[in-house]
Amino acid sequence: MTAAHDSSDCPPLNFATRQVQGGYVSGLPQNSAVPPIYQTAAYEFSSLSEARDLFALRRSGNLYSRNASPTQQVLEDRVTALEGGVSAVAVASGQAAVAVTLLALAGQQGHIVAATQLYGGSVDLLQETFVDFGIDVTFVDQDDLDAWRAAITPRTRAFFAESVANPIAQVLDVRAVADIAHAADIPLVIDNTVGTPYLIRPGEHGADFVVHSATKFLSGHGTSLGGVAIDQGTFDFGRNPERWPQFTAAYARFGELVLWERFGQGFAFAALVKSKYVHDLGPSLSPFNAWQILQGIETLDLRVSRQSASALAVAQRLQQHPAVTAVHHPGLEDNRWHPLAQRYLPRGVPSVFSIDLVSTGDEQADQDQIERVIDALRVVRLIANIGDARSMVAHPASMTHSHLNAEQRAGAGISSTTIRVSIGIEDTGDIIADFENALALVPVPVGSAR
Ligand SMILES: *Cc1c(COP(=O)(O)O)cnc(C)c1O
Repeated sequence: MTAAHDSSDCPPLNFATRQVQGGYVSGLPQNSAVPPIYQTAAYEFSSLSEARDLFALRRSGNLYSRNASPTQQVLEDRVTALEGGVSAVAVASGQAAVAVTLLALAGQQGHIVAATQLYGGSVDLLQETFVDFGIDVTFVDQDDLDAWRAAITPRTRAFFAESVANPIAQVLDVRAVADIAHAADIPLVIDNTVGTPYLIRPGEHGADFVVHSATKFLSGHGTSLGGVAIDQGTFDFGRNPERWPQFTAAYARFGELVLWERFGQGFAFAALVKSKYVHDLGPSLSPFNAWQILQGIETLDLRVSRQSASALAVAQRLQQHPAVTAVHHPGLEDNRWHPLAQRYLPRGVPSVFSIDLVSTGDEQADQDQIERVIDALRVVRLIANIGDARSMVAHPASMTHSHLNAEQRAGAGISSTTIRVSIGIEDTGDIIADFENALALVPVPVGSAR
């Protein structure tokens, strides 16, 4: 490939440069400045012998777009660069990224320890579908370090939590959980969807694998589903080879090939995920969605820094409002996770947080009140999504967390009056005015001003 301009000989590039340029060097005959959409299902081989080598994993290259496409590979390399990882796999959704990552680590009969504060879809996957697959999961309160330690069994193959959870925005003590995992030679997988690599890079705090719903902040405009799993290259599956036969024993479908020998640390995981889990289950990312997400990433730091600042201003204002009994935002000084936010999120706290409205003491009256407030919002929209350029609210108890039982909801810090907020890039004053207008519908007992 004759690159028109190759920045690989530059000194290490900073985040904002990597998010615009990472993973792509023009220099194809067309010299397109922006990564092209390779809208093709399959690839032509120059000879049968080349095809044979590619199918046997003796050579790397494109075969068929279920396994990988060139647009997807630019995305993989770019997100790898942003997270400071070694390799990545991009798939059709965040849900798929979580699933293929944990399936690959759990192998046969594995056990996973996961935070109760996980995204609702992840809870569904772990507590129902994984059980069908023979993988069992112990859920622990992510702040309870003793619980993480106590949940470890000889079959434990992964710890799984989010760097910043939602809707309550608990900040994980990533380093403490990583240390517990590593003391038992278990990899830590962190879902960094809400955190974003701009605000926190979990790999710098001990995470071995990082997963994303690229649908959220990475894509940033609410247009496309996608997911990415990044290998930080830190976990050595060769240290305890009998625990990890999926990497260290002959890979049946490729004869005598051993992934750990062929690909090595930092690359064997992606090879297994692509050649087995994505290949067999089929959650492939479309080239068009990969391209949309790449374009979104170009403005990641601009959007996220503005959204974070705007969300903090909204949270501070709502904290003063008499119709609001709690604002769960770790940027606020009285928040339980504020010290962890200061340590792990020096650039700002994610723009996803939640508020609790005053309760009437009556379940049905609370429902009616929540409904009136949410339906009165005009700038902020009722959408079951986060990380979009638009400001949005959701009602977890009726929407994202409706599959959880009351105890699980309480464990995640969600009550029936909790409203999740995801602040976009609109004018902060317009967003605050919209909330104040809607909250004015809540009758507040005299003398309850906060
Ligand atoms: C949305 C989300 C997911 C699932 O991602 P999809 O792209 O919707 O499949 C996983 N984890 C977190 C934290 C999420 O917010």
